[in-house]
Amino acid sequence: FKEVPTGFPELGKTMDYDESETIDPDTVPLNGGFLVKVLVLSIDPYLRGKMRNPSIESYSAPFYVGEPFYNYGVGVVVRSENPAVKAGDHLYGVFKFQHYVIENEPSRFKVIENKEGLPWSVYVGVCGMPGETADYAWKEFSRAKKGETVFVTAGAGPVGATVIQLAKSQGLKVIASAGSDDKVAFMSEIGADVAFNYKTVDTRKILEKEGPIDIYWDNVGGETLEAAIDHAARYARFIECGMISQYNTSQPYPVKNLLKVVGKELSLHGFIVGSLRPKYEAEFYATFPARVASGEIKYKEDRVRGLERAGEAIVAVQSGKNFGKSVVIVADE
Ligand code: NDP
Repeated sequence: FKEVPTGFPELGKTMDYDESETIDPDTVPLNGGFLVKVLVLSIDPYLRGKMRNPSIESYSAPFYVGEPFYNYGVGVVVRSENPAVKAGDHLYGVFKFQHYVIENEPSRFKVIENKEGLPWSVYVGVCGMPGETADYAWKEFSRAKKGETVFVTAGAGPVGATVIQLAKSQGLKVIASAGSDDKVAFMSEIGADVAFNYKTVDTRKILEKEGPIDIYWDNVGGETLEAAIDHAARYARFIECGMISQYNTSQPYPVKNLLKVVGKELSLHGFIVGSLRPKYEAEFYATFPARVASGEIKYKEDRVRGLERAGEAIVAVQSGKNFGKSVVIVADE
């Protein structure tokens, strides 16, 4: 991490690939720890919020200039001096953006058995944090009933695409938006009844025709949130998952119709996935990998190969250039 960005992060300016420090994985001292070869790293929208002046308080700790980025990933243990971890174990957890990491605390990681034989990258996507986000908050806040109408934004990403499918499986009418025609086609394929490109079609016109909406799954905030409030049914539930339209600007969009929250008796639920994890995690990991492996829950990945391309992927996710879950394949087994 080189410099705190003011707007969108920029390759070379905000972050760089640095090869100055190397280790020999065969001989590096472990001092009772374990050496992990990083296989896959996840690129998520919230990483932008960590690229801030560290004096600013937020729910997630800041990155520090000069230090490597870190995020969810999957790695394989190469050598271990800790009896709780053995060579060959595949671990899911938070890793530094490095080829190898030396760790000491096994409880920070989950051993993935992967009986279903899914690609490891799936464990940072639909079977990892974004899938958890969709599943947990849908269960906790949607109060979904068959026949209701839900509107999902950023519907081609891992969170939105999973929400579309959960809602469809419960018999809801699903309206979904994304920023390209390819993404629109994908959202239709996975079950959206009304899929549209918000860059070429007026969101308000669609909501006027296809609404009112009983549930709004908000991934974008801003003007779209304002439109959703205008087209919400009485007692609608707003699941405030993310507001990516506001992550790269210092002048947040002023949502002007909040008074309608009162008159329409809307429920607005903001949440952070980690807070819901203790309640739903066991059920998620017992069921989701099998549902994904059987094809019942579909997913799409946007893969880049090579750690040196992680910065490129971070920039792409903020500007909507990713199509599907953004993952960096750092190494094969
Ligand atoms: P995605 O892979 O969907 O990537 C983000 C997408 O947002 C982009 O591809 C782009 O797609 C869209 N986007 C970017 N800028 C804008 C904009 N200005 N207006 C509208 N859409 C925009 O991400 P995820 O599925 O991983 O995450 C989706 C949301 O969920 C994010 O807001 C994220 O922060 C949030 N989140 C929240 C969690 C929580 O605990 N509350 C946990 C995980 C994720 P497009 O082409 O459609 O514009």
